[in-house]
Amino acid sequence: MPALSDQVQFVRGVGPHIAQMLAEKGIQTAEDLLYHLPFRYEDRQNPRSLDELKPGETASVIGEVRGAVLLRTRRKPLFEITVGQGRHALKCLWFNSPYLDGKFHAGQTVAVYGRVEPSRSSSTFKMIQPQFEILPDASDDAETRLLEVGRITPVYESLGGSRLASRWQRKVIFNLLEGMRGMVPERLPRAMLERLNLPDRETALREVHFPPEGTSLAQLQSASTPAHRRLVFEELFFLELGLELKRRRMKERKGVAFATSDKVREAIREVLPFHPTAAQKRALGEIVADMREPAPMRRLLQGDVGSGKTIVAFQAMLVAMENGYQAALMAPTEILATQHFLAARKLLERSSRNPRIVLLTGSLDDGRKRRTRGLINRGEANLIIGTHALIEEKVEFDRLGLVVVDEQHRFGVLQRFRLMKKPNQPEPDVLVMTATPIPRTLALSLYGDLDLSVLDELPPGRMPIVTRRVDGERSAEVWNFVRKVVTRERRQAYIVYPVIEGTKDDQPELDFSHDEPEAQTEAPSSSRKSPPKAKTAELFQAAAQEASLGAKSGLKSAAEMHEKLRSGPFAGLRVALLHGRLDADEKEVIMRRFQRGEIDVLVATTVIEVGVDVPNATVMVVEHAERFGLAQLHQLRGRVGRGAARSYCILMTGERISPLGEERLNAMVRTQDGFELAELDLEIRGPGEFFGTRQAGLPEFRVANLLRDRKLLELAKQEASRFVVDPGPEVTAEERARVRAQLKDAWNRRYGLVEAG
Ligand code: ADP
Ligand code: MG
Repeated sequence: MPALSDQVQFVRGVGPHIAQMLAEKGIQTAEDLLYHLPFRYEDRQNPRSLDELKPGETASVIGEVRGAVLLRTRRKPLFEITVGQGRHALKCLWFNSPYLDGKFHAGQTVAVYGRVEPSRSSSTFKMIQPQFEILPDASDDAETRLLEVGRITPVYESLGGSRLASRWQRKVIFNLLEGMRGMVPERLPRAMLERLNLPDRETALREVHFPPEGTSLAQLQSASTPAHRRLVFEELFFLELGLELKRRRMKERKGVAFATSDKVREAIREVLPFHPTAAQKRALGEIVADMREPAPMRRLLQGDVGSGKTIVAFQAMLVAMENGYQAALMAPTEILATQHFLAARKLLERSSRNPRIVLLTGSLDDGRKRRTRGLINRGEANLIIGTHALIEEKVEFDRLGLVVVDEQHRFGVLQRFRLMKKPNQPEPDVLVMTATPIPRTLALSLYGDLDLSVLDELPPGRMPIVTRRVDGERSAEVWNFVRKVVTRERRQAYIVYPVIEGTKDDQPELDFSHDEPEAQTEAPSSSRKSPPKAKTAELFQAAAQEASLGAKSGLKSAAEMHEKLRSGPFAGLRVALLHGRLDADEKEVIMRRFQRGEIDVLVATTVIEVGVDVPNATVMVVEHAERFGLAQLHQLRGRVGRGAARSYCILMTGERISPLGEERLNAMVRTQDGFELAELDLEIRGPGEFFGTRQAGLPEFRVANLLRDRKLLELAKQEASRFVVDPGPEVTAEERARVRAQLKDAWNRRYGLVEAG
């Protein structure tokens, strides 16, 4: 009897060889295979008729092959088939696909799926690079015919070439489900399912793969059938349940109850270089209220780029230091850590306390690291600023009271701070800062174990950043403009490139990049490893198209352009180069000189993407802007417009821009609102990988999609807290035990968020 926990190798139709291919896609067990859901469905019961197609729509068409030719055009081979339905015909074209030759012959029935393009003759349409399947004929076995035609058919992302494409999956999954009839264990309490009107797990799995006759196609495509909702709900329920329990456990732990006497308040006020915004005041109030409590603080400070998170964090750190505790600030890059270090020194110069501030990053030499660790360990350092090195270098703090984590760290990081305190000491407070503009309700549900403060206001006097797209051919005008702003207005500029030198890949430039294998290297959709789960097929096609444009030839690099610019268009200006491969001292020197206004033009990579703060810099030029993700562009633009002067963001483009690239650039010109851009990014990139949330530490979902399933997320949160408080008498002891067991498993396996202790 098959069971969900079976190794996939033993599923009928799989075997050791295919199991290996599946393992590469993260499919280890029978259950994993069943949770590989169709990404769209084809109604092969009521196929579309060609004469009702409209150009521009994406459609699935079934017809008869009338002819197939391989054309050798001048540039590349072109394969063409004609699909007919009565008097109407549809031409399907594939480039560079000579392997298709011989696959099709007249009389076959095929299903094609793609965007309908107008054709020269009015009675025909065409599709470019459509997805296709050759449908079974009388010579195929009955089971194949049953699964392939005359029904709503699931379409899957391939799990390995054409061999493990949709048809293979239909068969294997169908047989697996048949073999397990009546034996898929339920995880949720019966009473809960009844109350929420959701089907049991087995029914949901069956119907999501093989929808019963009469299922609404629209609901299927939008993953909102009861079967889909049930699976999504379950996934989100266990996430929320875990977060809820974590939050409750945290409140029971012993932390530091900081005092906020008048003396402490005065110390905070004395360093403030400006009037805080109302939002900053509110956020600090919330943070300090937490810090006074004996339970450890776990708080998220969310605010768009430029909203002024840093100063709020410094104030909180002062509270800790005034109470005789150490405070630590962890930044994602060395440059940012260095900047925070310099800023802290400048700010705290005014403090009568004169705290000792140290910097600890990975690229310091061993001697200096050792000395710094000593200062921290003996309690001689009060404020410790660093990168991931703070965790990696086994720093032991003397009296750690507050940890601030700035931008883009994973959840996992939080737990590890517990290991840094000495035994028998209270747990430090933790404040996480993020610019990821997740809508509030979403943030509350997702970071269920963190409390949330929001900076929803920019400091006064900011002007909108003038954003323009400019064709790369007009670079002379752009350089002229930059030169003018630099010389006449005495401002500074950034010029950003996607690679450091040659056509080599520029590495992610984050110091913990080994945690983030896919973080921000390239155009987002081409760097994806796992298949885009609930992405619509159009986007999938567009992404494929983008990937095919993705070769890195002809990219300008920071190093090469630094040479060209400084001897050419910017001759006489002070031009410098900054990228991740410089050593720590060089980076520090350059950042410091740029900050002091001793450099006019900084040619850089995305190393300056997060956090860098030089208010006198008012021009951001991004070359090959079509290559960057939306989150990156928004962050890069956030480097300017940090003062009261008018700022500019110039997005220069190369020759070929993919449709997704177009969409990103247009969005950047259209709006500066981080929330709006985030929503768009979520749509473009699909779940799991939008707008920096990877970095922010969101778990990856199997079936849920955060944008699409927001309502279910709310519901899951409600149900989770209800379950924790009192599941009700109608939930049996056995059901409760099962939920608890599943929770452990889910958190261990899927999210890796389980508490260390
Ligand atoms: P982010 O939230 O992106 O980290 P920062 O903390 O770096 O933003 O602040 C952006 C800029 O705004 C900095 O130059 C900072 O000094 C300035 N700033 C922050 N708060 C205020 C304020 N209340 N009034 C004026 N300028 C401010
Ligand atoms: Mg910042």
